[in-house]
Amino acid sequence: MMLVGVFGNPVEHSRSPEIHQAFAEQVGLEIEYRKILVPLDEFNKTADAFLNEGALGFNITVPFKSDAFNYCSVRSKEAELAGAVNTIIKLTDGTIKGHNTDGLGLVNDIIKNMRWILEGKRILILGAGGAVQGIIGSLLTECPRHIHIYNRTLSKARALVDSFTSENVLAIDKDGLQSDYDVIISGTSAGLTGNVGDDLPAFIVGPSTKAYDLIYSTSLTPFLRWAKDSGAVECVDGLGMLVEQAAFAFEIWTNKQVVTTNVINKLRDS
Ligand code: NAP
Repeated sequence: MMLVGVFGNPVEHSRSPEIHQAFAEQVGLEIEYRKILVPLDEFNKTADAFLNEGALGFNITVPFKSDAFNYCSVRSKEAELAGAVNTIIKLTDGTIKGHNTDGLGLVNDIIKNMRWILEGKRILILGAGGAVQGIIGSLLTECPRHIHIYNRTLSKARALVDSFTSENVLAIDKDGLQSDYDVIISGTSAGLTGNVGDDLPAFIVGPSTKAYDLIYSTSLTPFLRWAKDSGAVECVDGLGMLVEQAAFAFEIWTNKQVVTTNVINKLRDS
């Protein structure tokens, strides 16, 4: 049986176990997927113990993606670009390799599931934290016209943009916001009760603007509610991204590709 899991703090809310169990059933594998509550200063100790117990690898969620990055001796190019690791695998020769599947998962959800086109489009991202750093590289592979980063703290948006070499990624302040973006992605942790839209002018949303929130919820998130009220044509939360990033992690561990649509629908219904 394949032993894997997710490291987080908190971790109880994680839906990763049911996602990976669904993938495993699909390909006829038996897995044990554990939720592991990691004390804030014990990432390395917990990782060593889990791998020594025979785990093949594990996922990493808030707040340990930087610790995971430092823990790995080898990293994928997505992980290097993101400066964060959300999936670890112990290779057969004992090497600990880190991946970041968040950006790949988001782009797969947008392109494959939502059938949105990003090539040549004007994208606005709200927020400049770890999640946003993890998605920019993958979004750039779709060749958008530009990606504007707007963050409550402008200096953080500037620092983030400096870590990318592309001239198409720009940190902007409120005066730099344009009208009618093609796609607006919220990557803030303002939460399900935050009033994200209070600070934003409605003109950034036009009749063909599509809105995506990395957060997922059973009802419209505050950002998606605001985008819808401002006239966005489509509003989508991050549940699809969660399942798609998990599918990439599952493939890293098993070399098997899975169908995600039924898993997304099942989660949405439950
Ligand atoms: P983070 O590193 O802590 O960054 C938080 C960001 O949100 C910062 O840019 C922060 O701005 C901004 N922010 C926080 N409160 C705000 C408020 N009240 N108004 C405006 N901006 C606010 O967090 P993260 O790791 O990037 O995660 C962001 C979100 O993405 C989380 O909710 C996480 O659950 C979600 N996520 C989803 C998936 C998925 O698979 N669907 C994957 C990864 C992450 P300042 O810089 O000004 O503090």
